[in-house]
Amino acid sequence: MSDRLPLITATKRGLYCPPGDFYIDPSKPVQTAIVTHAHGDHLREGSARMLLATPGLGVARKRLNDARNIVPVEYGAPVTLGPVKVSLHPAGHILGSAQVRLEHDGEVWVVSGDYKRQADPTCAPFETLECDVFVSETTFGQPHFVWPDTAAVVGNIVRWWHINRERGKNSVLFCYALGKAQRVLAEMLQHTREPVHVHGEIGTLVEVYRAAGIEMVPTQQVTATSAADLRGALIRATPTMTRSSWLRRLGMGARAFASGWMLLEGESRRRGYDMGFVVSDHADWPALVSTCQESRARRILLHHGRTDRLAAHLVGLGLDAAALGGD
Ligand SMILES: [Zn+2]
Ligand SMILES: [Zn+2]
Repeated sequence: MSDRLPLITATKRGLYCPPGDFYIDPSKPVQTAIVTHAHGDHLREGSARMLLATPGLGVARKRLNDARNIVPVEYGAPVTLGPVKVSLHPAGHILGSAQVRLEHDGEVWVVSGDYKRQADPTCAPFETLECDVFVSETTFGQPHFVWPDTAAVVGNIVRWWHINRERGKNSVLFCYALGKAQRVLAEMLQHTREPVHVHGEIGTLVEVYRAAGIEMVPTQQVTATSAADLRGALIRATPTMTRSSWLRRLGMGARAFASGWMLLEGESRRRGYDMGFVVSDHADWPALVSTCQESRARRILLHHGRTDRLAAHLVGLGLDAAALGGD
């Protein structure tokens, strides 16, 4: 097996499969792209053909100007691209997120895409796949990244909101529009049924999630609402709004950010927020390690983030691990 050409290689346009002549999450338009999910650094305009897991179709349509080239593929359903058998499997990252399983000449590779192992009421759970070679992302590939229980963190978000409300202040919780926003709104059902105000793109994507049957607390779209109307409210907004006139019109209030990066000491203040809540849609360090082990792969290839740290740790555990090579 060792003299085989790699089934996946890193290129300037992204991960490429030479025998199948297709890319995974290419950075530039290509003939055939497999798109693991609809986040902006994975789904890009312009490829002639984009294969994407069916549950992510609604979200992708909202994110693309031209979605005609999308080919929806059911989880687990094999598609043949040249001599390569390809299938998509849940990655537990956001609605419709997928790992890519490739089978060629008796060899199986799995490309994780972004993934997490924590429970998430807004998407199908990560599916453990055994393979010969596992290509894993390592966004949070350092040992201090260990996530707290998200349900407990969301309980703290609700308490933070209610305390601010008692003080007559509004609360703005910033986070990425796709995935994180909806996950927190779904987890909030354990604590409250009160409506939450959602800004712009978050509101649009909440509707897509609702159409997919995902239950969340009631939401109200805000655009140019006056500050007085939102006294005591919880408002969800994207980080791009932090310096907007819209936010200034809300007046004084509490500002927080929800992200895995909030685990870093002082990170919320550095970014100009009063508070940070640790909520991540990526695998933390223990989940990266256990997922690599559970793949039972004879070789682990890492990309995205601190590959060196995780590679060294996995080698210490007796696994064959390295950063993903390319041309
Ligand atoms: Zn992502
Ligand atoms: Zn990503």
